[in-house]
Amino acid sequence: MESDEDRAPGRDRIDALAELFAHGPVAVLTGAGISTDSGIPDYRGEGSPPRSPMNIAQFMGDEAYRRRFWAGARIGSLRTGGIAPNAGHLALARLEAAGRTEGVITQNVDGLHRRAGSRTVVELHGHGGTIRCTACERRWSRDAVLVRFDDLNPGFAERHADAEIAPDGDAIVRSTDGVLVPGCPECGGILRPDVVYFGETVPPAVFAAGEDLVHEAHALLLVGTSLAVNTGIRLVHRAERRGLPLAVINRGPTAVDQRPSVRVRIDGGASETLAAVAAALD
Ligand SMILES: [Zn+2]
Repeated sequence: MESDEDRAPGRDRIDALAELFAHGPVAVLTGAGISTDSGIPDYRGEGSPPRSPMNIAQFMGDEAYRRRFWAGARIGSLRTGGIAPNAGHLALARLEAAGRTEGVITQNVDGLHRRAGSRTVVELHGHGGTIRCTACERRWSRDAVLVRFDDLNPGFAERHADAEIAPDGDAIVRSTDGVLVPGCPECGGILRPDVVYFGETVPPAVFAAGEDLVHEAHALLLVGTSLAVNTGIRLVHRAERRGLPLAVINRGPTAVDQRPSVRVRIDGGASETLAAVAAALD
């Protein structure tokens, strides 16, 4: 590990970051950069694949779009079973268990913080593994809905198992004619991922939960985010208003690098940096 000087952040930086935790629990805001080591692409990072965002308006208005979505989700689920929390997620769970953090606020929808053992997790943009009914607001797991997809479309997954996989993990299924879309088992309403998509707003109660974590914290640590998302910047402003110091771990520049509130800035990977900080605080 010591020989990998390009990747390993300097000892003094790690010590400066650890020092930030010495004054009391820290709030942590994470973005896509913490999950890239788990094999989930960062659409904003350098060298990232072309963005293929979900068009939620089209999803809601067009049955054919929903057929393609569910068919892609079903086939994609055959290939993405290997995605697991990485050393960065695990280090944050360890820091929380040791009373070093107030919890995690995340822009990610991959659910990896909870799977790593983090208990207090505010998911600003929702959770891709949860499906909600747009009519009655009941929620189901994505897996449960995919089982219903199989009931409605027997043999479909087997017939298309070799379809190409898009960067977001869902498959590109060419022919979805005749595919039946699972509706809400309770009311028949349209089901959608419980995710805040581009053009939608973070629910006020969710933002308030993130705000509460920042208000209880002694510092705000930003990990794997360039702060291109407006909600993240709003939380930074809340922290600054309370005079909290900021720290940044990110590959490449962020929107806050020049702010006087930034005490520590580490241009590096989330996994190795967080693991080193957790080890320094043990
Ligand atoms: Zn319903």
